[in-house]
Amino acid sequence: ACNTLEKASSILSSRRPLRLQNFVSGNFHTPSASSSSPDIGYIDSYEPKTGKLLARVPCTQPDGVETAIRAAQDAFPAWSKTPRSERSRYLRRVSELLQEHRELFAVWESIDQGKTLARARVEVDRAIANFAYFSTYILHEQTAARTVDGVALTYEHRSPAGVFALISPWNMPLYLLTWKIAPCLAFGCTAVAKPSEVTSISAFLLAALFQKAGLPSGVINIIFGDGPTTGAALVASALVNGVSFTGGTQTGIAIRRSTASHIYKHMSLELGGKNPTLVFADAMAEDKRERTVSLAATAAFENQGEICLCGSRIYVEKAVYSDFVLEFTEHVRKTWVVEVNVGAVVSRQHYDKIRGYLKLADQEGVKFNLGGVPPELSDHDDASGYWIIPTVLTEAPSDSALVREEIFGPVVTISPFEDENDAVRLANDSDYGLAAIVVTADGGRMRRVSERLETGLVWVNSWLVRELGTPFGGVKNSGVGREGGEYSRDVFTVVKTVHLPS
Ligand code: NAD
Repeated sequence: ACNTLEKASSILSSRRPLRLQNFVSGNFHTPSASSSSPDIGYIDSYEPKTGKLLARVPCTQPDGVETAIRAAQDAFPAWSKTPRSERSRYLRRVSELLQEHRELFAVWESIDQGKTLARARVEVDRAIANFAYFSTYILHEQTAARTVDGVALTYEHRSPAGVFALISPWNMPLYLLTWKIAPCLAFGCTAVAKPSEVTSISAFLLAALFQKAGLPSGVINIIFGDGPTTGAALVASALVNGVSFTGGTQTGIAIRRSTASHIYKHMSLELGGKNPTLVFADAMAEDKRERTVSLAATAAFENQGEICLCGSRIYVEKAVYSDFVLEFTEHVRKTWVVEVNVGAVVSRQHYDKIRGYLKLADQEGVKFNLGGVPPELSDHDDASGYWIIPTVLTEAPSDSALVREEIFGPVVTISPFEDENDAVRLANDSDYGLAAIVVTADGGRMRRVSERLETGLVWVNSWLVRELGTPFGGVKNSGVGREGGEYSRDVFTVVKTVHLPS
């Protein structure tokens, strides 16, 4: 484990491509290639800020996936019976080790994902908190018990649900993967985790921490690969008792299909979003406008807009609409463009996708208040990274793909609304329902609007505040299932009612 971490540090300075290995049964293995070519099983991963080759990620074939699942299955009986206090100590140790290596993780995460170093540090801190939180949660957990007619006793008994497939996307790689691994192990399950093939490095380093923390062999296995080969084989295996997945809606649908005949599988699907930010006129009063504009901009452009919770559709009350557009555009130019608070977008493929939307904006005659259609990139070698200027669009028709589809980049649309009802109608006019942001000074409206919004989360005059016990998840095409505190317990445990007569 020390070796892996030291190697990662030295490669960081030498800038050679990092060759990742699977972590199965407590050891690092190079998965076997499926043909005579030794390279056939590798995916090239590029550094977003430079377009240079950064890592070679093994694409684990179905037999390798099966080996990892068997390792988790073999480890399950002992781990599920390990006393909570002991499981808690392992998780606490992982959290401490992550704290010790915070900067190494942050630097690699920033290089691998394209995010700024400041943003990467925030996410590593959140990953540390994930392990710390669940390490103590299981020590203080409560179970419901009731009496029947004041005599017989009925209580809830929970047991770990088994082997889990934990699959995460590329936007907040370490943070989202640990948000799954920490509760999974805390509640006594074992796992095979697969990070995104686009950003696999922090998961590789995390495996080294698990080894260093001395976690029993097979409790957590981390394998690498793409969705169609590795991810699909992992979720479809009959030996997997549950899937916790964060990623795109289309992938969520594919996973639901491929697991439909396994009724027993616990499913938690955290999917895409197209989140509205509603700005009411009272939030643009003289003493509030700066804060309002800054909040809406942060919600739109943090992590280059590559956060599922970003407010990418801003709706503003008509009376203050033109003032807001002017001030917002100026603020974004100063704070997000000149001060360079955005990083590069994650990959060439994603750059091309965002560019496609901006070409569409141009064709549709949508107004660019800031930004434009980014240049077409040549091949990887002469590209100088995947940079897109924060882009502020107005006058997009409400049926445009720009307003309806998840762009997942530094692009925001701003449109006017008439009144409270119109604001709610526009916000809810979406196939997605992950999060919403309401900016207003009116206390009654805060509740009225929040309760009418069809989303899993609402932030009033705030954004991205997290309390790890609160339920996290979406409605509509943004997913099913909730995670966080006791909601994660529902994902990772099976509950049984035990009835004892008097
Ligand atoms: P993606 O769906 O393409 O990939 C996510 C993960 O699933 C990757 O590890 C990928 O390899 C794997 N995968 C792909 N096909 C698979 C299959 N058939 N079976 C099993 N696994 C498969 O998503 P992405 O492009 O990596 O991430 C961006 C998406 O994630 C956006 O839509 C974003 O909104 C969403 N997201 C949601 C949340 C949330 O909490 N709701 C958080 C972050 C990101």
